[in-house]
This record gives sequence, structure tokens and C-alpha cells, in this order.
Amino acid sequence: MSRIVMKFGGTSMADLDRIRNVANRVKREVDAGNEVAVVVSAMAGTTNQLVKWCQDLSPLHDPREYDVVVATGEQVTIGLLAIALQTIGVPARSWQGWQVPVRTDHAHGKARVTEVEGETLIARMQAGEVPVVAGFQGVAPDGRVSTLGRGGSDLSAVVLAAAIKADRCDIYTDVDGIYTTDPRIVPRARKLDRISYEEMLELASVGAKVLQTRSVEMAMKARVRVQVLSSFEDKPGSLVVDEDEIMEKPIVSGIAYSRDEAKVTLRRVPDRPGIAATVFGLLAAANVNVDMIVQNLGADGSTDMTFTVGRADLARAQDALDKARPEVGFEAILADPDVAKISVVGIGMRSHAGVATTMFRTLAEKGINIQVISTSEIKVSVLVAADYTELAVRALHTAYGLDGPAA
Ligand code: ADP
Ligand code: ASP
Ligand code: MG
Repeated sequence: MSRIVMKFGGTSMADLDRIRNVANRVKREVDAGNEVAVVVSAMAGTTNQLVKWCQDLSPLHDPREYDVVVATGEQVTIGLLAIALQTIGVPARSWQGWQVPVRTDHAHGKARVTEVEGETLIARMQAGEVPVVAGFQGVAPDGRVSTLGRGGSDLSAVVLAAAIKADRCDIYTDVDGIYTTDPRIVPRARKLDRISYEEMLELASVGAKVLQTRSVEMAMKARVRVQVLSSFEDKPGSLVVDEDEIMEKPIVSGIAYSRDEAKVTLRRVPDRPGIAATVFGLLAAANVNVDMIVQNLGADGSTDMTFTVGRADLARAQDALDKARPEVGFEAILADPDVAKISVVGIGMRSHAGVATTMFRTLAEKGINIQVISTSEIKVSVLVAADYTELAVRALHTAYGLDGPAA
């Protein structure tokens, strides 16, 4: 007997037939003698619609009310799945975040999980019931509903797996594993049987949304065994494992892209000590995460400062910067949301030179202009015009020898 967390994403829960399919998969694991807890997302498209309603009413909406709205999608699917399970004879009960409880901090819209209580759910599982837990949501210290950031149901699954001491955390989705890049963009992407926590963390953080970044971080910290597999086919999936469980370490193991960022340039910022601290301090205070940063020194003692922020945070960033204009003294704010970040990731980069050169040359050959560059020990990222996303990802996939046989 194993104790398993099974997580089903939005496409897997998209309509009643699919919810019945999920219920049958859960029943199979229960019939095999396992203790199962399920975590679900909202139906595909629901969260996007809920987010859009908040944005349309006010781009600078109150994040506490945003959470009240966007957390509703998962309330629907936990109830429906519990009914579907009961209908096929599997005792099941739905759980919202506050009921578990999944405790978080105050950072509404992207709250961090501080504690998950597993005892009650363990007792229910031992009594033969399947808890169906709402992904994406928790409860803030003041008792209000909080959400964990987009894609946060993966994190819900991993923290639950850690709290109930599960043997495995199976993430069921609409692809059958983790690939060298998004298989929807590159049909010749190859499925990876195993990938290290470090590489998956880096890929997720630069946009491979098959797993949410913080879920990988948490899995790595809490030693949760994560497997990604298909909701629709019975095939082996991909395992996220320790680096030393992987025999062959390719130089580049994957390519990711993100269209979720926007570029901001502050024109003619005075070039004096403390300016960067002021600008980025302001953004941090407005709860805006900054990613890539470049600064060009002008001849006249002023500089242009360019950086990227989450596209969803762009209005908040512009607002915070605009208010601080007299204090900082820049000439203009230019915002460009039509950008994409393309990244190559691989542990082998630690010991091999030339990965960045291959990337720059490949993009140059395709006539793609690089706007910003950033690197880490196992990653190189570039910012390009969004229209070039697919061309860039495909060309790089080929250039690093990642292409599998033609589909
Ligand atoms: P879910 O709703 O099940 O959480 P997501 O849409 O969040 O599903 O994540 C699955 C999607 O991630 C796939 O449909 C695929 O397009 C995308 N994806 C991006 N990069 C990768 C990758 N390297 N391997 C597999 N899928 C990827
Ligand atoms: N429903 C949430 C979202 O779309 C959480 C998730 O699906 O993981 O972001
Ligand atoms: Mg997801």
C-alpha cells in the first residue's frame, strides 16, 4: 500500500466527462489498496476568466478581493469531483484551503504557504475516505482566502504530499511528461524519463509551465517524489529526481519560453549611487517582482535602465514608478508587453563553455534581435520580440541537438 497525492490540472477537469475520467483514475488507485488524496484545479479557462473580470473592473484592484474571486474556480471542481467519486462508490469529501487548513502569509495573489496540517486528512484517508482538496488556495493569517499564484495547484499538491507524508505526488496533466521543450511548440521535442530538481526548477522559473516553480522548489526541499503523467493515456511519465540519479548529463537539457513578462525602460535616470536601490525598492514595496535588468551608461551622466516585470504586474509597476518620478528624476517610462524570454537550461553548462555563443549565433542566423540577456550557473536567457518566440525555440532546439525523430 502506498499513500499517494494525485493532482489533476484544468484540462483534466474541463467538463463532466473529464471529471468522470478523473474519478475512474482515482478509483483505480483506491481499488489497488492505496490511500489517496486528490488536489484539483479549476476547469480550464475558468481562472483566466475570473482574472480578466478583476482586471477589466480595475487594473489596480485590491488583491484581497482578487483572491476572493479567483479562488472560486477550485470550489466548483472539488465539489463536482467528490460527487463523481461518490457516484461510483468511492467515499469522498471536498476540502477548501481554509478547511485543511493550508496556511499562507499575507501576500494575496501570490501567497507563500507557511504550514499545512495533515492530521485530519490522514485520519480520513485511514478511515477509507478520499479527500478532494482545492488547489491554488489557502487561508491568510487574518482568516481571508488567499491564492498561491497562477499554476499554484501544483504547489498545493506538493505541500499536501509533504504534510501527509505521501510516498508519491503524481501530477496528471494534458501532456504525458516533461519534454525537452513545450511539445505544443516543437513537435520534435523529446520526453525525459527523468529530470533533476535543479534543472526542472530552472526550467519552471523561466516559463516551462508544466510544473509551477515553487512546487519544484518545495519538492526539492521536502524530498517529495514528483511524477508528471497524462490524465488521458496510460503511459509512464517523467520523474523529478536528485541529480545523482541521472546517469547522462547533457549540456543543455531543455528550452523554455515565457510570454508572461513585459519590458520597462526608464529613460535618462540620473546616474548616482542609490538610484537602483530606490527604483527596485519601490517596485518591491508594490509587490512587483523584477527579473532581467540592464543599465546603459549615457555620456551625459544619465543612464537608461531596462528591466522586466510580470505582465500582470505592469500596471502596478508603472503606477508605482510614476508616483516616484519627482524623487527618482527620470525622463520617461517606456513599457513594451510584446516581448518573450527564451531560455536554455542544463546542468552541463557548469563545465562547458560556448553554450551562450551557440544561442546568440543561432538567433542571429534567424535575424532575431536580442534585447536583454541574463545568465545563471545553469541557464542563459534572452529577451526577444514576442513574434519570434516559436521560431527562436525551434531553432535553438535543433541547434543544441535536442530534436527527436520527426513526429
Ligand atoms: P495543468 O492545467 O494540467 O496544470 P498546464 O497547462 O499548467 O497544465 O501545464 C501543462 C502544459 O505545459 C502542457 O500542455 C505544455 O504545453 C506546457 N509545457 C511547457 N513546457 C513544457 C515541457 N518542457 N514539457 C511538457 N510540457 C510543457
Ligand atoms: N486554476 C489556477 C490557475 O489557473 C491554478 C492552477 O491551475 O494550477 O492558475
Ligand atoms: Mg499547471
